[in-house]
Amino acid sequence: LAGNISGLAMKPEVFDSEPGGFRENLLQIYEHMRRDDIFATYAVVPPPGARNKEYYQSAGVAQPACRVTGEDDKGVILNGMKFLATGAAYAHEVLVGNIMPLEPDQKKESITCVIPLNLEGLTLWSRPPLNRMDTNPFDNPLTTKFDESDCMLTFNDVHVPWEKIIVHDNAPLSRNIYTQTPSHVMANHQCNVRFHSKMRFLVGLASLITKVTGARDIPAVRETLAKLAAMEAGYGAMIDGQLYRYHEVDNGYVLFNRRALYAALHWAMENHSHLMDTVRELLGGGPFQFPASIDVMKDPYLKEMFENYWSTGDYGAKERMKFFKLAWDLVGSDHASRATSYEKFYVGPAHAVRNYNFVNAPWEELHGIAEGLMDTYDIPSDEMLLNDGGT
Ligand SMILES: Cc1cc2nc3c(=O)[nH]c(=O)nc-3n(C[C@H](O)[C@H](O)[C@H](O)COP(=O)(O)OP(=O)(O)OC[C@H]3O[C@@H](n4cnc5c(N)ncnc54)[C@H](O)[C@@H]3O)c2cc1C
Repeated sequence: LAGNISGLAMKPEVFDSEPGGFRENLLQIYEHMRRDDIFATYAVVPPPGARNKEYYQSAGVAQPACRVTGEDDKGVILNGMKFLATGAAYAHEVLVGNIMPLEPDQKKESITCVIPLNLEGLTLWSRPPLNRMDTNPFDNPLTTKFDESDCMLTFNDVHVPWEKIIVHDNAPLSRNIYTQTPSHVMANHQCNVRFHSKMRFLVGLASLITKVTGARDIPAVRETLAKLAAMEAGYGAMIDGQLYRYHEVDNGYVLFNRRALYAALHWAMENHSHLMDTVRELLGGGPFQFPASIDVMKDPYLKEMFENYWSTGDYGAKERMKFFKLAWDLVGSDHASRATSYEKFYVGPAHAVRNYNFVNAPWEELHGIAEGLMDTYDIPSDEMLLNDGGT
């Protein structure tokens, strides 16, 4: 979210381009978040199931999407829900807005604001935590470090002061602020860098696991590792491309290359499950050979048995279990499963990610390559055919 807000502040004039934009508020919010080191998340999607407004109109029930239901001198009143603020349980503030286009008549839903999570009437409805009190870092090393929480936000007569609002009553502007400023690119470059770090970790761990299983020098296994290494290097190059082919944009700023960024987002979304499946295959049934918890080491009788039976030539039982538990937390645990959904959806659904690639492609230039070649020939004359040896 830091990237999002910084990207908005890089082109604040977009907020002056239409009624309903609050440029000064945005700049104040940017300064406050920077100065006070605010950890913020965002909820920028209407709740699934709330997108068919005809249903709610015909059934005569209030639509659940978060909207402005009143306003006064001090600010606006919000009611409804917003989907799905990752990290909200740990955050100071949340950006409420719309990354999906709204219909022009949905202007009350266009409210975009950055608010503290403890405003009266604002509640978080969270999935169960995966990192529980009794979760052991040895058995679930990633879950215990990286369980972020995912929360629905519900607004029950929440009063939002005017100074926290950056868009109000303008449906197109509430979405365009992300794409007509560097905001979307700034935020998602960080996501690309994060994904690359995860790939480096994954490839290293995959290779170590094959050492532990003793399969690393089998030609077919080396080939699998080589493919993983090639994917990791290629993805890294897509990030380098965002830096080397940067754009010069307004207000004296430079920006990561948009096409390389959206291509990398698409690549990650398409390939994450395949990467996980490849590591799972390298693991074989290994993760299931170990006891439920490393607590066995606290009982002298079980410890001795465990060390006797589970050790192999090069690796002790505890060491082997440590590798397999880490790998399972990456590819197979509840945490891993949640991460698989995250990698598919955090930018938006697949069709939206493809659309970013479509709208940013230089179609004229690409058409020109094929058209330029076609311009070099036409229906051959009889003479040309004879010269070319045609019949
Ligand atoms: C773990 C996790 C964390 C998240 N964190 C955040 C967050 O921090 N902040 C935030 O705002 N959001 C977050 N999200 C929500 C995310 O933005 C949405 O999941 C995403 O935009 C997709 O919307 P949806 O889930 O409603 O899927 P839907 O729109 O219901 O789509 C589901 C599926 O239906 C099909 N489909 C639907 N419409 C179309 C169409 N027009 N064309 C083709 N196929 C279609 C596709 O197969 C699609 O995958 C998170 C989601 C997950 C899973």
